[in-house]
Amino acid sequence: MTVQTGALSIESRNIFTLLKTSLYSEQDIVFRELVSNASDAIAKRAVVDARAPGGRIDVVVDATTRVVTVTDNGVGMTSDEVDRYINQIALSGASEFVRRFHPDASDGGSDLGEEIIGHFGVGFYSAFMLSGTVTLDTLSYEPGSEAVHWECGSDMEYALARGSRTDVGTTVTLRLDPDSPYLENGAAVRTALTHYFAFLGTPLYYRFQSDDEGDDGSPLVNDPSPVLKGPGHEVTDEELCAFYRNHFQEACDPLAWYRVESVDLGLRGMVFVRDTRGGAEAIDGRVEIYSRGVFVDANIPQFVPKFVNLQHAIIECDQLPLVVSRGQVRSGGPDGIAAKVAECLSQELAIALHTMFTQERPRYVELWPELAAFVKYGVLTDRIFASVMTRRVLFASVAGELLTLGEYLEQVAADHPGTVFYTSDPVGQAAYVEAFRASGVPALILDHVIDQPLLQRLEAVTKDVRFVRLDADAARVLALEPDPADADLATRVVARFQRFSADRLPGADSKPVWLRVADLPVVLTSDEGARRMSDLAQMSGLVSGRPADELAVPRTLLVNLRNPTVRRIGDLPEPLAGTAIAQLVDLILLGQDELSPEQLLGFLTRSHNILTGYLATTEE
Ligand code: ADP
Ligand code: MG
Repeated sequence: MTVQTGALSIESRNIFTLLKTSLYSEQDIVFRELVSNASDAIAKRAVVDARAPGGRIDVVVDATTRVVTVTDNGVGMTSDEVDRYINQIALSGASEFVRRFHPDASDGGSDLGEEIIGHFGVGFYSAFMLSGTVTLDTLSYEPGSEAVHWECGSDMEYALARGSRTDVGTTVTLRLDPDSPYLENGAAVRTALTHYFAFLGTPLYYRFQSDDEGDDGSPLVNDPSPVLKGPGHEVTDEELCAFYRNHFQEACDPLAWYRVESVDLGLRGMVFVRDTRGGAEAIDGRVEIYSRGVFVDANIPQFVPKFVNLQHAIIECDQLPLVVSRGQVRSGGPDGIAAKVAECLSQELAIALHTMFTQERPRYVELWPELAAFVKYGVLTDRIFASVMTRRVLFASVAGELLTLGEYLEQVAADHPGTVFYTSDPVGQAAYVEAFRASGVPALILDHVIDQPLLQRLEAVTKDVRFVRLDADAARVLALEPDPADADLATRVVARFQRFSADRLPGADSKPVWLRVADLPVVLTSDEGARRMSDLAQMSGLVSGRPADELAVPRTLLVNLRNPTVRRIGDLPEPLAGTAIAQLVDLILLGQDELSPEQLLGFLTRSHNILTGYLATTEE
């Protein structure tokens, strides 16, 4: 073997500058790159060497000598290979490997080929981020190979010579600066290794030795995730839940989990539906992306659809290079892979939930309270998910059922085709809800913040469907024919309501109705369109305070002539009628949270007076 020296090519110098400045900002990635290379070398040897031993990677930090070594028992390199793969950095060692061992790979037939090419980067040179001098000792698995020793300083002058290594594999040696944080104690490197390699398939050992702390042995760093274990590895639900709680630091088990898989993308993993009953739904979940057992990043926006971020997930995609989380993703990654991964996640989740809907409806219904926000958000923000799941969104009805929009529309098809009656506030609108329930007209409860945009979307995508809030259309739905015998009484009563409610409901008209339900004395209706505008303005903070005064939504006070109290108001002495009307109107405004502090005080005083009067009459 010839002893060779030289300087790295111009390209290498450029890459080196790039490395030091922009590409890698965290030093931890040196460990990611060197251990990944070791893991790759072990994978290659398993393919080409029938006598390959079980793979093993060792990272050793000696704080006394400030030396770090990364050792593997993978394929190793011949001196030619070191020259090509390490010296001539522009050459892809990976593509060379593929050409040699997989002649078919050039026509795109080999999984392994794609896997390794996609992985090619400038990883090895990251070593210079930590060390002024990097050495490489390697012995190829090929029979008759000689050991190689390669050494390079940060001046990029290298020397290639015969080495002394006797076992097949590679050791990369770094010399840390005296002030390196990795020398302080064993924790820094361990944290880095755990961060990237917790699920690596090959056993990874880490040893820290120093004068102060002695030698901590070589504990194993990694433990393959039960999620990523391939077919044939049965994992029990208990194991999976235990893994989930520990890995995501959750107190509760997941409510459900869905496997996701795409053979085309070499993608597999699992999405866990979080138990958010503790109120955690406001906090995003953690969607971790791995490439061949190596952690890439979490919650990468280009890879993970927004709604999926609400859950926890472990996703492995073999086609991702490790540097994918850096600059590359901004352009969508190689071959727009980011978009493909995101699409795959939306699709797989849509299929899983849809299957549950059609085949396990009781379970779907049971989980719905926890799934609702997630599914609705997905429908609103994700085209693919929406195409499948829009018709699988469930709504609670005032009768206590959980229905899809389609099922609801069937119920109203005969009497109110295409009309969706809903309440956005089942407590504040309790009187209307009760009236609808009593008269048997189906209505839905849409009281989540996401329901308003959702119903607008549903109106837009569903033909001939109109959402109408209960109070907006109560009269039309609940009204009977006017009773001619009540004509005089109606005129008297309505005139009084008009007069005594004017201060509370400026601009509102009072009208007589004969409602199916006699219990409801008055109903305040507003125009649906105008009210939505007002709600929207309020929600977006354009208007603060009381909506009725500032954004005049045209309203009508419907006075129910079938209600006994209302009928009496026509014949009461004026002051008494005034008190009764004020009380009835205040009760409505109270339910809608529209009383000003002074009005509320007036209401309370009046209520006390009424009570006192009532008690006085019962004493007599
Ligand atoms: P990549 O890993 O993306 O190919 P690197 O710069 O990390 O790029 O490594 C360049 C090449 O050097 C690898 O493709 C491989 O052929 C060779 N190499 C690096 N580390 C090792 C190792 N530990 N064992 C065998 N070959 C290695
Ligand atoms: Mg590499």
